[in-house]
Amino acid sequence: MANERSLILFKPDAVQRRLCGELLSRIEKRGLKIVGLKMLQVTKELSAQHYAEHVEKPFYPLLEEFITSGPVVALVVEGPEAISVMRTMMGSTNGRESALGTIRGDFGLSRQMNLIHGSDGPEAAAREIPIYFKAEELIEYETTLAGWVCADD
Ligand code: GDP
Ligand code: MG
Repeated sequence: MANERSLILFKPDAVQRRLCGELLSRIEKRGLKIVGLKMLQVTKELSAQHYAEHVEKPFYPLLEEFITSGPVVALVVEGPEAISVMRTMMGSTNGRESALGTIRGDFGLSRQMNLIHGSDGPEAAAREIPIYFKAEELIEYETTLAGWVCADD
């Protein structure tokens, strides 16, 4: 069981809709540890760096407009298999196709405005985390809950 870190964004729609607390609460209650947290405005340059794999796609101009339209909250979460745990909690890209109980399935109906970003694999996490956080902005600490919430079977 790999202890992983994942880069999470609460996208501009989550901030505008006052859903940051709800999303953070779900992540905390699941047992993942917050090791980095900040609010920032994504610039066009940052968008192109983050979404490098999508820059040439037809929908990129819309995605750029959306992700730069207002502040986002960026987090690094840590825990056992944190990357896939977060992807499962997020649901599928399109809110209309996302299962109930997932963040995108519970709060959205859009393929673009889908509230949350989460790294899609270890390589993506390793690339994305330093885009948003300096090493000294990520805090190493222990929680007494870890032994209860994250204990292996
Ligand atoms: P994710 O990994 O589930 O976030 O999805 P992708 O990596 O495929 O796409 C990145 C983000 O681009 C998504 O979360 C959406 O915000 C947006 N997006 C994806 N596909 C489309 C599309 O077909 N049209 C538009 N307008 N936005 C899209
Ligand atoms: Mg993706």
